[in-house]
Amino acid sequence: MIGRSDKQGRVNALVVEDSPPMRKMIVFALSRIRELSVTEADDGVDALRRIASTKFDIIITDINMPILDGLKLVKRLRADKAYKDVPIIIITTEGAEEDRQRALALGANAYITKPIQAPQVIKLVRETLGLLDGG
Ligand SMILES: [Mg+2]
Repeated sequence: MIGRSDKQGRVNALVVEDSPPMRKMIVFALSRIRELSVTEADDGVDALRRIASTKFDIIITDINMPILDGLKLVKRLRADKAYKDVPIIIITTEGAEEDRQRALALGANAYITKPIQAPQVIKLVRETLGLLDGG
C-alpha cells in the first residue's frame, strides 16, 4: 500500500496535461475512485510548482507538453528525494513507442495510450496504488 499523506486517509493524485479537454476527461475518470483527491496541473512547470507545496501519492502525466514535457518531469521527479519512489503513470500517443521506452527507462511505472478510455485509467490507477476494486 502506498503511503497516504492526507489526514483523511485520502490519496493525493496529480494530473499533468496541457490539453484542457483531455485533462478534464482524466480527472472525471479519476473522480470515480473515492479514495482519490485529484489536483490538476497545466504543464510540467505548473506540476513542479504544485509538488513544492503538496506531497502527492501518484502522478499521471502527459508526455507532449510545452516548456517542460513529461520526460523532463519524470527525470526531475526521480532526482527529487521526496518523489523518487512515487508512482508515475505517463500518457502517450499510440505511435510514440520511443517516448514510452524513454519514460520507463527514466523511472515511470506504467503508461496509458491515447485515445484514453476511462475504465482503463481507473483500473491502472487502482492497480498502481494497490486499491481494491469497487472501493
Ligand atoms: Mg499534450
